[in-house]
Amino acid sequence: MALVVQKFGGTSVGTVERIQNVAHRVIATKRQGNQVIVVVSAMSGDTDRLLNLARQIDDRPERNERELDVLLASGEQVTIALLALAIESQGEKARSLLGHQVAIRTDRDHTRARILEIDKQRVQSALDEGRIVVVAGFQGVDEEGDLTTLGRGGSDTSAVAVAAGLRADVCDIFTDVDGIYTTDPNLCRTARKLDRISYDEMLELASLGAKVLQIRSVEFAKKYGIPIHVRSSFSDAEGTLVCREDEAMEKAIVSGVAYNKNEAKITMIGVPDRPGIAAQVFSAIAGKGIVVDMIIQNVSEEGLTDLTFTVPKDDFQRSMAIVHNLCTEIGAKDAVGDERIAKISIVGIGMRTHARVASRMFEALARENVNIMMISTSEIKISCVIAEKYTELAVRVLHDEFQLDRSAEEREYI
Ligand code: ADP
Ligand code: ASP
Ligand code: MG
Repeated sequence: MALVVQKFGGTSVGTVERIQNVAHRVIATKRQGNQVIVVVSAMSGDTDRLLNLARQIDDRPERNERELDVLLASGEQVTIALLALAIESQGEKARSLLGHQVAIRTDRDHTRARILEIDKQRVQSALDEGRIVVVAGFQGVDEEGDLTTLGRGGSDTSAVAVAAGLRADVCDIFTDVDGIYTTDPNLCRTARKLDRISYDEMLELASLGAKVLQIRSVEFAKKYGIPIHVRSSFSDAEGTLVCREDEAMEKAIVSGVAYNKNEAKITMIGVPDRPGIAAQVFSAIAGKGIVVDMIIQNVSEEGLTDLTFTVPKDDFQRSMAIVHNLCTEIGAKDAVGDERIAKISIVGIGMRTHARVASRMFEALARENVNIMMISTSEIKISCVIAEKYTELAVRVLHDEFQLDRSAEEREYI
């Protein structure tokens, strides 16, 4: 008998009919002779709705993260109860469990907590009683017994962590697309579904904006060697296997394009060029819990330089306030910000050994007159910051340029 973990995202449980459909699917899996744990998200739009309610009371509810978590965790409570009811009404035994009932233990970092440990006992005994266990995604409990949430998209991580904790044989992530594509299929018509993708490439895609899997779920899967099968909750089609790099994988130089519209850019102008300034600027920002992504410092002229970096859009106003204070403190001339930017990235393990990938990316963007404001590279990715209004165009142009609509063997540019 195999132990199967199946996770269903917000769209997949977005209506009562869809919840009944999920019940049908998990029952079918059980009746094939498996033990089944189902992890679910809140109904689509529900987490945003809760967040908006909080914002009507406090424009920065993050300041009271404990209460925000109590609120946000309620979305998943609704879906586990409805799904357990649906399973029972279709003739199988179910048991819904909240994060703290499982228990999924996390650190105390509210709204972005990390899972530390999963208690197997309660889930195991429900399975032993022949029940389908329905676990609330996105939530856990800290050492004080307080509710925590795992960051947006966190149900993916709940599912992989439960699969790791209970040593499941299979971890299926059911979503509203039928696998991992070469880029967001909702943005690019020619996006192509991949049969397999390595943990490392998926980690890059996720961290660069492909929200199909939360990055921490991929980190977990890689650490514990759990293959994730990403597939559609609306069909039986094979999806994409996220797994260790192997011989059967496409030998692509570029395997995907990702975009992220959730960052903003800040430039400090006329910054004195002397030791300790960068340390002072970035410790002031990090001190407020703001995570800086790309950083560029220009060559200095007459002892002054410009410093540009990106921060999450949600932290933009706070960052600008900090930066204006810093300008006075260190004697910089001014600071300007731009919220209408996007980061476009290409990812591929083959880039490690191939030259000219970056120049092709820049040439393709130049042909469409898309100006590049910032560039950053690593072994297996290249990212460019551009104006937000060119996001879709840039994604399509890069997808075409690297012929991602064809399998790696059929591409002609190598
Ligand atoms: P769920 O609610 O099931 O967790 P999400 O909305 O979090 O689903 O993630 C699925 C979405 O991810 C898709 O609808 C798609 O628009 C987006 N996406 C972005 N990049 C990709 C990609 N490379 N492959 C597949 N989907 C992608
Ligand atoms: N409901 C949470 C969110 O909207 C968690 C998830 O969907 O994975 O981010
Ligand atoms: Mg998601």
